[in-house]
Amino acid sequence: ARRNPNEPEFHQAVREVAESVIPYINHHQKYIDARILERMTEPDRIIIFRVCWEDDDGHIRVNRGYRVQFNNAIGPYKGGLRFTSNLSLDTLKFLGFEQTFKNSLTTLPLGSAKGGADFNPKGKSDREVMRFCQSFMTELHKHIGAHTDVPAGDIGVGAREISYMFGQYKRLQNEFRSVLTGKELAYGGSLIRKEATGYGTVFFTREMLKAHQKELEGKRCIVSGSGNVALYTAQKVMQLGATVIAMSDSGGSFLIPSGMTQEHLNHLIDLKEKQRGRISEFAEHFDCDYYPDKKVWDFPCDIAFACATQNELELNDAKELVKNGCIALAEGANMPTTMEASHYLREAGILFAPAKAANAGGVAVSGLEMSQNSMRLSWPLEELEKRLEDIMFKIHQQSKRYGQQSDNTIDYIRGANIAGFTKVADAMLSYGFV
Ligand code: NDP
Repeated sequence: ARRNPNEPEFHQAVREVAESVIPYINHHQKYIDARILERMTEPDRIIIFRVCWEDDDGHIRVNRGYRVQFNNAIGPYKGGLRFTSNLSLDTLKFLGFEQTFKNSLTTLPLGSAKGGADFNPKGKSDREVMRFCQSFMTELHKHIGAHTDVPAGDIGVGAREISYMFGQYKRLQNEFRSVLTGKELAYGGSLIRKEATGYGTVFFTREMLKAHQKELEGKRCIVSGSGNVALYTAQKVMQLGATVIAMSDSGGSFLIPSGMTQEHLNHLIDLKEKQRGRISEFAEHFDCDYYPDKKVWDFPCDIAFACATQNELELNDAKELVKNGCIALAEGANMPTTMEASHYLREAGILFAPAKAANAGGVAVSGLEMSQNSMRLSWPLEELEKRLEDIMFKIHQQSKRYGQQSDNTIDYIRGANIAGFTKVADAMLSYGFV
């Protein structure tokens, strides 16, 4: 904390990993001698830069851009870019640190990074977003590359932003390289990338339930958020025979006690992806119950999917979930559960699928996008979905293996942390002191 003051989210992420990994490395002297965990908490480098652009009224605007290149022990830096008004270095360090373990778990050769800008695309015109993205990439392109660092999207960065950035990279470098993932299909994107994080979260949850002699089919689910991860979590939940009764955005939540229909979901995807609309508009369109400023956690459910943002599920919410008989929580978002809530849920015996395992499907398919680009070919949808399912199955297996407790329960947080740690740590050991 002394070395990284005023970084509560980064401290939280490191503390959670340390709680699992320290007891493990205490039995593995080689990691202690080489101070591997300490080295892992220090990013390789942090790049901070000015992003200057012109708005539609001809005013000059100034934002701050970041890239935190965390660890490239097992592959090129890889992680999303986030565009949101209150973005801080603290948030990016927590996300980059988490990414190290997540990317290791995917079984693919991916290092870790995170980046973005304190720029909010909401309410900006397409032209403004384009000018911002071009200016952002004008600096970022010096620091990334197909074998160096391959950013992707995250909150506030979808296909539109990736396209503008890729166009600018191509113009500056005069080469067509796999330097970003989450691209549109027309210029090297991968099928199922858009759906991958949500689908993967549901695949992991299904495995976790199966390992406890439970099934997803027929369960009542709530999903927080209605962005990329939330929408495709809801879609896969419904495809696998469970129901989604509530979703949200930062303005409030809707509740449909009988479960969303295909028509509801199609409308919501269209509203969110094409029209950048609000949950309140969705509720009005279908005349269903809408709760302004309310989170989804109070609605009784069997399974909760946290797919919006960090620390969105607090202790009181956890108590509500337990009181209402929820059996499992899956983290589609990064660190959506506070430490207190996470401890409470696990002590209450709720099955807990941690973000770095459950939501690794997105970066895994990004890795597959890079492979397809290198080979200059595209795999068909069925093959990609099968590969995603296999990867999630393996992530579950690894997390289960390292998370097995003496009382026969499985601590997936511990399991995911240790499994993710060992691969990166062993690579770092091989390199010596670098
Ligand atoms: P999006 O920007 O597409 O969606 C975020 C959603 O969360 C929006 O619906 C937003 O609503 C909502 N939201 C934000 N804050 C709150 C809040 N306090 N309460 C309720 N809803 C809220 O982002 P993504 O879906 O891409 O990312 C979501 C999370 O998943 C992030 O933690 C991200 O890091 C993580 N993640 C994403 C991956 C990906 O592939 N996209 C991969 C792995 C992790 P509003 O529109 O009102 O702001």
